[in-house]
Amino acid sequence: MLSEEREGVLVLRFARFCAFPQLEHFFVTRCTPYDVTTKEGQEAIARLFGITSIFVPHQVHGASFLVFDEGLWYNASCCVADAVLTRKKGLYFGILVADCVPLLLFAPESGVLALVHAGWRGIVLGIHRRVLQAMQERFSVKPSDVLGGVGPAIGPCCFKVGGEVAEIFIAQGKKAFLKWREGSTFVDLKGIVVADLLERGMKAKNLEVSNFCTSCEEELFYSFRRDRTEKRCLLVAGLRG
Ligand SMILES: [Zn+2]
Repeated sequence: MLSEEREGVLVLRFARFCAFPQLEHFFVTRCTPYDVTTKEGQEAIARLFGITSIFVPHQVHGASFLVFDEGLWYNASCCVADAVLTRKKGLYFGILVADCVPLLLFAPESGVLALVHAGWRGIVLGIHRRVLQAMQERFSVKPSDVLGGVGPAIGPCCFKVGGEVAEIFIAQGKKAFLKWREGSTFVDLKGIVVADLLERGMKAKNLEVSNFCTSCEEELFYSFRRDRTEKRCLLVAGLRG
């Protein structure tokens, strides 16, 4: 990912997505004077990057997503979802993360964009697979035409899970993404997301995966596992109007 600092706010961008002027996207690290979990903080970020207000759904670690298309609108107070799918221009969306996988999917030709919050529960429920499928079914996007960005998330170096969670992943055929060290089990969440997207037709050359582990890189990211914090980083994206 590429980094840029703007008035004390450090953001990261997927290099691959920077080639598309119709797409705005950036990942706000913890190096910012603003609390991006608040409306005020989100508005300050929007002003700084010259975009309209950022809509952040109420995330619940589920597998529901919202679709914003022409003619559809939203009621911000009742938007419980962990992903947003849109081809409407001029709307900007945000996904809050601290260890969970922030995923961006973009089909340049059809102008369809999706932001996904994929924590371990959402991954087990298949939110990333469901969103890719919805792009296909609702907007006739071929997975082979979709570009993907898998952002900073907790890595297999740090994401330790208990026996019950490990069993869930094993039951789903994901044993290859579990590592055992010193009597503990660790899970590679980004690896699972990538493998699932490739299995459903995306191309490896179209995927950019951040190597950052949010728990290891304390100066750049918040980590719920490391700090038990309420603070979050914010992935923002939208189609320019
Ligand atoms: Zn780590």
